[in-house]
Amino acid sequence: MSSKVRVRFAPSPTGGLHLGGVRTVLFNYLFARKHGGEFIVRIEDTDQSRYVARAEEYIFDCLAWCGLEPDESSLHGGPMGPYRQSERKESYRQYAEKLIREGHAYYAFDTPEELEKMREDLKAAGSSSLQYDHRVRMKMNNSLSLPADRVQQLLDTGTPHVIRIKMDPGKTLKMSDLIRGEIEFDSAMVDDKVLLKADGMPTYHLAVVVDDHLMKITHAFRGEEWLPSAPVHILLWEKLFGLSEMPQWAHLPLILKPDGNGKLSKRDGERLGFPVYALSWADPTSGTVSPGFKELGFLPEAFINFLALLGWNSGTEQEIFTLEELIDAFSIERIHKGGAKFDYEKAKWFNHEWIKRSSAERLFIPVKNILESHGITPSDEDILRMIDMIKDRCTLLTDFYVQGCFLFKAPEAFDEAAVMPKWDAGKTAFFSDWSLKLKDLALWDTASIENSCKEAAAAGQIKIGEIQMIFRIMLVGSKMGPAVFAIAERLGREETLNRIQKASKLFDSKI
Ligand code: GLU
Repeated sequence: MSSKVRVRFAPSPTGGLHLGGVRTVLFNYLFARKHGGEFIVRIEDTDQSRYVARAEEYIFDCLAWCGLEPDESSLHGGPMGPYRQSERKESYRQYAEKLIREGHAYYAFDTPEELEKMREDLKAAGSSSLQYDHRVRMKMNNSLSLPADRVQQLLDTGTPHVIRIKMDPGKTLKMSDLIRGEIEFDSAMVDDKVLLKADGMPTYHLAVVVDDHLMKITHAFRGEEWLPSAPVHILLWEKLFGLSEMPQWAHLPLILKPDGNGKLSKRDGERLGFPVYALSWADPTSGTVSPGFKELGFLPEAFINFLALLGWNSGTEQEIFTLEELIDAFSIERIHKGGAKFDYEKAKWFNHEWIKRSSAERLFIPVKNILESHGITPSDEDILRMIDMIKDRCTLLTDFYVQGCFLFKAPEAFDEAAVMPKWDAGKTAFFSDWSLKLKDLALWDTASIENSCKEAAAAGQIKIGEIQMIFRIMLVGSKMGPAVFAIAERLGREETLNRIQKASKLFDSKI
């Protein structure tokens, strides 16, 4: 086996890339970077019936957003391409035929009707398995059951056929998994999987083994749901290239539903109201658009950080990791065997932490875009100041609009339920007198505005708490936001006075 680490993510372009897939990418990426190796993305599009046109492009969009760029792929090119299996179609048949010559595979000519009848017969006989395997193969139409001249004739006349692996009972197929240790499979339980289909396309099983070999893959990470396929792959490796050449396997733990124990699915996201895609995905058949983590206001740094800890930990208390730190800390030994429960609240916590830690410059573009989508276009300087002022209060990037839009446009509605019980002629007089003082305030800064407010409240014997609450609602519309006098400083004298005046009038009209 080549000593240079080469790992691959091998998605089938059959739909949106689910967050479990992104985590597989991440672990591949971290491992490759940690060991100075290469990270390859190979598109496994041999099942043309499940092919979804935008899926491949979407995978690369997701990886670009996450900052997990491959070294070699169908998009990035590379020395061992093509990286799309449909474009490698011609290279697989020779391996299937080699297996036939050496007695490890066979031609099968069964029609769909015959296969259906086989399953009916097995069902009627009360068989626990309906598989095409060593128990039934001699009753079917294949190059093991038919005489050689008949087989030749069928081939010569172009009779549609597949090539199946010959999985004989009585063999223990072993592999050493980097996460699960030694795993053994009983060959009697495995069916004679199709390797090459009637249209000449390989199935996933043949293609994955051939390409992992040709692309010199040293370590193969994939989801635990692929474990049942492993015995087929082990046998193929043994017969085609030798077990010593086989990559080291690591079957990653499942990401589980937040409630219950099953694997997290797209439907759980819809049911419980959280995203399962990195970027928004428009289902081409139903047309439904599922928003992704990006659109809901996540930073890719937070998304990656959160995903890394779904099934892995560093062994320390540290939870916040940059990508560089993850590369440094990553080790396969610390990937758990058990499934990892998805927790959306925790994902949001990571995002909040990342927003707090990010500079205004880092947050500038996404925040500017969010404000723009609401028709707000402040100067760059104002956006940067606004970010610094409210980032500690934002969990999602979209909160910058909710929490910060009052800085750029006067509130249109006010929390009257909070104000009106406290509003009376005394308050009207207070705000009118205080406005006169604010007009003449020598210095328009937080401390001066606050002092002036306190003095005016003390002089009028009005509770400062009530004044602050009302003042905030006048400026913001609601009780939220950073320190109210800092808000006034930021808004400027004229805007503050306008908002006081407008709100006082409205509250007066409601008495
Ligand atoms: N094409 C498989 C998938 O869609 C890849 C499994 C593997 O990594 O071997 O996930």
